[in-house]
Amino acid sequence: MRLELRPYQRPFRQPLHTAHGLWSVREGLLLRLMDNEGHVGYGEIAPIPWFGTETLAQALTCCQSLGSDFWHNRATLPESDIPPHLPATQFGLASAWADLQQSRTFPPPLPSPALPICGLLPTGKAALPAWPRLWQQGFRTFKWKIGVADLAQECRWLEDLMAQLPPQARLRLDANGGLTVEEATQLLEVCDRLNRAGAKGAIIECLEQPLPTDQFTEMQHLAQQCRTPLALDESVATVAQLEEHHRQGWQGLWVVKPAIAGWPDRLRQFWQQHSPPIIFSSVFETPVGRQSALALAQKYAQEVPHSLALGFGTLGWFEDDWDTLTPRQLWGRLAPSTDSATWPTMG
Ligand code: MG
Repeated sequence: MRLELRPYQRPFRQPLHTAHGLWSVREGLLLRLMDNEGHVGYGEIAPIPWFGTETLAQALTCCQSLGSDFWHNRATLPESDIPPHLPATQFGLASAWADLQQSRTFPPPLPSPALPICGLLPTGKAALPAWPRLWQQGFRTFKWKIGVADLAQECRWLEDLMAQLPPQARLRLDANGGLTVEEATQLLEVCDRLNRAGAKGAIIECLEQPLPTDQFTEMQHLAQQCRTPLALDESVATVAQLEEHHRQGWQGLWVVKPAIAGWPDRLRQFWQQHSPPIIFSSVFETPVGRQSALALAQKYAQEVPHSLALGFGTLGWFEDDWDTLTPRQLWGRLAPSTDSATWPTMG
C-alpha cells in the first residue's frame, strides 16, 4: 500500500467575501492510495482554517508522518491515528480508502440519480433579476445571503423576491452569523409573515446561522419564537460539534460540509441515530472531494428522507476547467509534492 500526495492551488474567478476577509485561492491536497494489485483510490483534503479546521501545512505533515507501518496489513482505516483537530485530513484519508475499496469491486456500482442542488443568488437587489435564469437551468431551491446591506432594505427586497418566485420555489436565507438578536427577530417576523401569506406559494425554507457561534442560547430562543426553521452552519463544522449541539437540544436544521466534518462514518452514525434534517454543502473542493461528499449525501438521502436541496451549486467558480475532469485526469494535471510520502509495499 502506498499513499501519494499532490497539493493544488485554484484561483477563484472572483475572490469570495467571507467572515475572514477575501478568499482568492482555494488550496488543498489530493491523495492517491494504491494497493499491491495496483487498485487506486482518490481522496481530497480541503481545509478551511478560518472555519476551524487544520491548515494545509498541518494536513501535509500528518500525511507524511503516516509511515509504512501505518499501512502494514491494513484492512481498515484506524480512526485513532488521525487526531480530532485534523477533520479535513480524516475526511480525505477516509475518502481515499473508501474509493480504493470501491475500485476493487467488480462490476462497479451503478451511479445514483442526481439529488437536487440549491442555486446561489447574488447578494442584495441583484437577486431579483437573477433568479429566472437559475430557474430555467432547473434550480428550484435558491440561496440568498442576507445581512450584507441595510436590513430594512433587504427585508423589502425579500418581499419583492417572494412575490416573484413561482409556487414550487424554496428560498434559503444565510446570515453567516452576522445579525444581532434584534435584527434576526425583525427578519424572522417578516419571514413568518411571508410564509403564512404564501401558504400555497413559494416558501422561505430556513434562515442559516442568524447569530454568531457564541450565541447558541440566543439562537435557541429565536428558534422557539419563530415558525421559519433555523439552521446551524458555522456552529457545527465538525461531527463533534454536531453531537455537542444535539446534546444541547438543537431541533432545527443542520448545514454539514462533509469535507471538513471529520470521519464520514461518524457523520453517518450521527444521522442514523438522530435522523436530523441535514443540508449537505460544499467547501469548494475539486471533483475528487465533491464526489466523496456527494456519495455521503446519497447515502443520507437513502437513509433519512428529507427534501433539502444540496448546497453544491459551486461549479464554475474557478478560472480552471477542473470541474470537467475525472479524478484520474485531475491527478495527472498536478505535480507530485516535492517531499511526497511514499512507502515500499509491506504485505
Ligand atoms: Mg451558511
